Amino acid sequence: MARIVMKFGGTSMAGIERIRHVAGLVKREAERGNQVAVVVSAMAGETDRLVQLCREAASLYDPREYDVVVASGEQVTSGLLAITLQGMGLNARSYMGWQLPIRASGHAAALIDHIEAEVLERAFAAGGIAVIPGFQGVTELGDVATLGRGGSDTSAVALAVAMKADRCDIYTDVDGVYTTDPRIVPKARKLARITYEEMLELASVGAKVLQTRSVGLAMRYNMPLQVLSSFEDVPGTMIVADDAIEDRDMERNLITGIAYDKNEAMITLFGLPDESGTVAKIFGPLAEAGINVDVIVQSSPIEGQRSALTFTVPKASLDHCLDALARHKAEIGYDEIIHYTDVVKVSVVGVGMRSNPGVAAKMFQVLAERRINIFAISTSEIKVSVIIDMDYAELAVRVLHTAFGLDQEDAA
Ligand code: ADP
Ligand code: ASP
Ligand code: MG
Repeated sequence: MARIVMKFGGTSMAGIERIRHVAGLVKREAERGNQVAVVVSAMAGETDRLVQLCREAASLYDPREYDVVVASGEQVTSGLLAITLQGMGLNARSYMGWQLPIRASGHAAALIDHIEAEVLERAFAAGGIAVIPGFQGVTELGDVATLGRGGSDTSAVALAVAMKADRCDIYTDVDGVYTTDPRIVPKARKLARITYEEMLELASVGAKVLQTRSVGLAMRYNMPLQVLSSFEDVPGTMIVADDAIEDRDMERNLITGIAYDKNEAMITLFGLPDESGTVAKIFGPLAEAGINVDVIVQSSPIEGQRSALTFTVPKASLDHCLDALARHKAEIGYDEIIHYTDVVKVSVVGVGMRSNPGVAAKMFQVLAERRINIFAISTSEIKVSVIIDMDYAELAVRVLHTAFGLDQEDAA
């Protein structure tokens, strides 16, 4: 007997017919004698719809109330799956975040502090299947909190850790992790295995197949994680520790994958005073507003002139960011502010980069050959990211995928 968390994403839960299919997969796992907790997402498109309603209600909405609204999608699907399982004769029950409880701090991108496993233990002891809405927790004050977009993955891994599960299976609408998004590059290759570290980096630069935090959590607790399809019964991708890949040197590519992120906005502040403390005055208020800043580029001023600073923030934080900067304009002392939303961040990722120089140079060369202009660059030990015009997103990913030798061999 094994203890398993099965997580189903939005497309897998989109409608009663899909939910019935999911119930069949859960039933199969339970009939193998396993103890199963199921974590579900809202139906595909539902969270987007709820977020849009909040925006329409007020552009600078209160995050507490946003959570009240957006958490509702998962409540619906968890109840529906429990009803469907019961209809199949199984002993299933849904448990909301506050009922376990899943304790969390903050709003809109809340962090999980602790999950009580006692309720689940009792359910398992009685031979039951627990269905839990992903994406939600409860704060110290008893308010509903949500974990950021894609957060059901993190709910699933956190739950797997709390109940000491043998593995956490993430069922989605693709049959594994690919070298890049298979929806935009048909030549993308499925990876049988990928390390936690590489998956973490790929997810953090936009490969939304897993929420970044879920991978970090799995890595920290060494929780076996698997990505597989809820549509097709084929092997998925295992996410494993670095030392589990023995044939790394002989068989692996320099680059593991390429990701893109269309959810960033770029902001440039012109006419900044060339003196110490200016950058701190800009990012201090943004940190206070809970805004994550990503790529940062500062132009060095010519003697005696003022400088410019460019950075990116999630599009969802743009209004809050512009508001914070406007409120601190006098203190920061900039002349002008411009923002762009038609940009994309394209990143190449691979641990092989550590020992092989020249990845960035090759990336810039490949983009230059296609006359794709680079607005900003950022790098880490195993990643190079560039910000470019949104119109070139697909083209850039495709040409880089080919240039780094990632295309499927038998692809046309
Ligand atoms: P779910 O609703 O199941 O959580 P998501 O839409 O969040 O599903 O994530 C699955 C999607 O991730 C796929 O449909 C695919 O388009 C996208 N994706 C992006 N990068 C990758 C990648 N490297 N491998 C697989 N899928 C990817
Ligand atoms: N429903 C939430 C979202 O769309 C959480 C999730 O699906 O992981 O972001
Ligand atoms: Mg997801």
